[in-house]
Amino acid sequence: MSNSYDVVVIGGGPGGYVAAIRAAQLGKKVACVEMYRHNGYGVENRPSLGGTCLNVGCIPSKVLLESSEHFDKKVLLESSEHFDKLSHLAHHGITIESASINIKKMIERKENISAQLTMGIEQLFKANNIDWIKGRGKLIAKDKVSVTDFDGNKTKLALLILMVMLQNTPRKMLF
Ligand SMILES: Cc1cc2nc3c(=O)[nH]c(=O)nc-3n(C[C@H](O)[C@H](O)[C@H](O)COP(=O)(O)OP(=O)(O)OC[C@H]3O[C@@H](n4cnc5c(N)ncnc54)[C@H](O)[C@@H]3O)c2cc1C
Repeated sequence: MSNSYDVVVIGGGPGGYVAAIRAAQLGKKVACVEMYRHNGYGVENRPSLGGTCLNVGCIPSKVLLESSEHFDKKVLLESSEHFDKLSHLAHHGITIESASINIKKMIERKENISAQLTMGIEQLFKANNIDWIKGRGKLIAKDKVSVTDFDGNKTKLALLILMVMLQNTPRKMLF
């Protein structure tokens, strides 16, 4: 992997990955530095693109909201006259169970959807020849970024254009 780029993007969220892909489409040699590692059901420290939105924010919250809405509808159905009629069908051998939530399954579904989308971005990076540099980026000169990987090793990236896309991350200046 070459350490010299036209464009280095720090942050692989919706701001960063879109900027990286567009720059690559415009013919630039691009690297995107992203430090996030995802933890969840069955997932431990998986490096992941997509930022807050795809890993913990917009998408996971809407997936869980959708599940909650289904549960809410089921509870409403149970309290309705319609359900009363259905539950009186027990002597026909028809039983209708009351609603319950399997939180583990609900969270697993959220994790799967989130993983599909974040891995989709990885594919887009590959298709556009973008190098994903895993680790924490720090600007050390006007044309140089140092990246510390998950084992503490440092790599230097030379660059012409730097894009810093860290909207949701509390941060100090990267200098
Ligand atoms: C619960 C929740 C629900 C939301 N729902 C919605 C919604 O429905 N609709 C909507 O429009 N918005 C929603 N948002 C907001 C949305 O997530 C953000 O606006 C969006 O993620 C911002 O994108 P970004 O790329 O600027 O930053 P981020 O998504 O925060 O990405 C920044 C990335 O930079 C990485 N990073 C930070 N510092 C460094 C460093 N030094 N080196 C390397 N990498 C670094 C971080 O790990 C992170 O992945 C929601 C947010 C939350 C928390």
